[in-house]
Amino acid sequence: MQRFPFEAIAIVRSPYREKFAIPRQPGLVDVLSTVELLPPYNRAEAVRGLASFSHIWLSFVFHGVVREGWKPTVRPPRLGGNERVGVFASRATHRPNPLGLSAVELVAVECDSAGVRLQVRGADLLDGTPVVDIKPYLPYADSLPEAQGGYAPQAPDTRLAVVFSELAAATLVQQQHSYPALASLIEQLLALDPRPAYHSDDPQRGYGLALYDFNLRFVVADGVATVVAIEPLAAD
Ligand code: SAM
Repeated sequence: MQRFPFEAIAIVRSPYREKFAIPRQPGLVDVLSTVELLPPYNRAEAVRGLASFSHIWLSFVFHGVVREGWKPTVRPPRLGGNERVGVFASRATHRPNPLGLSAVELVAVECDSAGVRLQVRGADLLDGTPVVDIKPYLPYADSLPEAQGGYAPQAPDTRLAVVFSELAAATLVQQQHSYPALASLIEQLLALDPRPAYHSDDPQRGYGLALYDFNLRFVVADGVATVVAIEPLAAD
């Protein structure tokens, strides 16, 4: 068997502190993340010319599932979580080589004494995701408007309305200065309905979600996600 020893060239810093509720593809949610280049790749010359591109490809490792192995078939959420397709007919995380690929908007390239950072918008990546390569997105080659999207022909619909309890709304006001994008991010994530496909509406069932430095608690009933509380995330 051939082996190719890769190493991380960068690490993603994102608000997503757990896999649950991360959008299933990039660009579905307006969220900012930082790609921090690691030594010896954190040199301005390694990203010279990159800022002229509006989008980049991130090749990364699904580090949160590397030990969980893979199966030849998977059940994509798009098919309701019941129907199986081949792993190579899916973008599932559990793959023989747990590599992911996301096209994201490049907002800024920052080079200073602290190193090199890429500010990106729309990433679907867990905080701490190791990046193994960065490439510019080339519209003439990478944008294929005639392409067929198989069982996922278009972006998922937003499915839930989102409301905040008085308690949660008060926390948002308190945190507005430090986390100005928090309310909008919560609304966008919950509108996509992050619940597993097999969960039907059960207003008694509570969900938790770690975002930035918060644990969010919400319930869902009649097409409405209610954010019950936004609490400090317990230290690891
Ligand atoms: N756009 C990429 C692709 O197509 O290769 C990722 C698609 S994958 C279906 C997206 C999901 O991967 C997210 O919803 C999240 O649950 C999960 N995920 C993101 N970063 C991860 C990581 N570092 N380790 C494990 N799972 C991750």
